[in-house]
Amino acid sequence: MNGILIIAPNWIGDAVMTQPLLARLKAQYPDSPIDVLASKWVAPIYRACSEVNEVIEAPFEHKQLQWKLRKQLAKHLQTRNYQACFVLPNSFKSALIPWLANIPLRIGYRGELRYGLINLSLPNPSKVNRPPMALHYLALAELLTDEESVTQAPMPVLQVAETAKQSIEQKLVASGINTHSPSNPLFVFCPGAEYGPTKRWPANYFAQLAQSLTQQNDKAHIILLGGKGDQPIASDIQDSAGNPTRIHNWCGSTSLDEAIALIARANAVVSNDSGLMHIAAALKTPQVAIFGSSDPAHTPPLSEKAKVIWLQLPCSPCHKKVCPLGHLKCLHDIHPQQVLTTLNTL
Ligand code: SF4
Repeated sequence: MNGILIIAPNWIGDAVMTQPLLARLKAQYPDSPIDVLASKWVAPIYRACSEVNEVIEAPFEHKQLQWKLRKQLAKHLQTRNYQACFVLPNSFKSALIPWLANIPLRIGYRGELRYGLINLSLPNPSKVNRPPMALHYLALAELLTDEESVTQAPMPVLQVAETAKQSIEQKLVASGINTHSPSNPLFVFCPGAEYGPTKRWPANYFAQLAQSLTQQNDKAHIILLGGKGDQPIASDIQDSAGNPTRIHNWCGSTSLDEAIALIARANAVVSNDSGLMHIAAALKTPQVAIFGSSDPAHTPPLSEKAKVIWLQLPCSPCHKKVCPLGHLKCLHDIHPQQVLTTLNTL
């Protein structure tokens, strides 16, 4: 094999779950460079994967076909003579570029009517009893080898870029956060979840947890981490918790590369089932992951240092974005004291 291209998924958590596939391909084809075509929002994940030779940022807008631009990019990629392309999203348009670029082996799940575009494929898995995402992606590598399939979900691993580390150190100093001493713990809370409210533990619970941690240790700092869209939730947490010198709202003010460096630097992370949860797992930062309407068997944080809190109610997982029963007990019945107790066991 001489040259592999990966078409990356569009969600951060899914992108993290593809790292075991990259590691497997690197082990199978150590001399073959692996390039990744990724949207600008998941590209930092691949910059943190040691197996990747080059990350190519795709210039496309979300949900747009942009046919002319796709053809131009395919023409450029054709000059690189990739021998195989793994198309990880299930969409029709994600399979167009490798087909237009005449890459001989185009590997993926059958997805949205992609016969012809994909020429080495696996059937789409059933929606009931779905395998863990990491195994789902890894299974595609087995199409190229006779080796036995892996049955246990492998743990993704990310590396932190040196420039992002330095940038985070400067931001910590500028915010008056000295966390180099073990007695000054740094906690990162990730209160967002793009999916919707059924994955978001209530803001007032995050605030109560923050208060408890700062009372427990008067040198602890808590950073609220997330994207711009998480700023209102983080402001609510900060307002309810008070103590702005120890509880810092960084939502929307870090790049994803910096967020990776910050999570690697934290003593512990508390998050919902979100992309940042998977990043914490891949960095082996101790973490508490709170699950509501989703299924931790399908998208668990793959780390020995992770503790999952999931109530496993009879209605759960419902995978709905808004609670169909109107009470959201799967999250409201996880109390801050339970999360604090779990956090203290890490
Ligand atoms: S139906 Fe159950 S699992 Fe779904 S959101 Fe409501 S409480 Fe949570």
